[in-house]
Amino acid sequence: MRIVLLGAPGSGKGTQAALLQERLGLPHISTGVLLRKAVEDRTPLGQQANAIIDRGELVPDDVMLELIEQRLGEADAQKGFLLDGYPRNLSQAQSLDKLLERLGQPVDEAIQIDIDPESVIARIAKRAETEDRSDDTEDVVRNRMQVYEEQTAPVVGYYAERGLLTRVLGTGSIEEVLRLILSVLEIEHPGLTA
Ligand code: ADP
Repeated sequence: MRIVLLGAPGSGKGTQAALLQERLGLPHISTGVLLRKAVEDRTPLGQQANAIIDRGELVPDDVMLELIEQRLGEADAQKGFLLDGYPRNLSQAQSLDKLLERLGQPVDEAIQIDIDPESVIARIAKRAETEDRSDDTEDVVRNRMQVYEEQTAPVVGYYAERGLLTRVLGTGSIEEVLRLILSVLEIEHPGLTA
């Protein structure tokens, strides 16, 4: 089963993907995590991405496509995956479709976690107290939210047009949101979560 998770920064995508990974036995592929690891390891990709991430902007599409193509080619991704942080604009959505078509593994589900901007700001401020992410400062968070509105929000429509999108409310507790997502997957794929 191949699932794309969509949602604003701070919507809880990463948290839910980590829980879903355990429940569904699918790898959680987060481009944010992959990029931060590359930065930490000072790889050429990390050196290129570092300043871009710190401004809250998007790493170039060709770089991201190479990264995701490589990750999706690994053995654990052959049984399916939970994609978190990709695609982030329409061009990435088209590239992903082409790639997955070539691999004969199209996206089965896109799940959008809906949340209001005030909750996002509050959540990220809280996260900044415990996690040391250089892009969680207030100015950068605002920029990430703007980038999301302008570039990533249209991706929701892209999947809706293809009949693959379900929206879930992301304002409840972690357990409540997880239950909503599992019920969506169970309805569409009975038996999957049993
Ligand atoms: P969040 O969704 O909470 O903003 P992520 O961990 O998903 O955070 O991503 C952090 C940063 O990594 C983004 O602001 C962006 O700079 C970069 N990034 C992640 N995924 C992509 C992508 N698909 N395309 C371009 N840049 C990306």
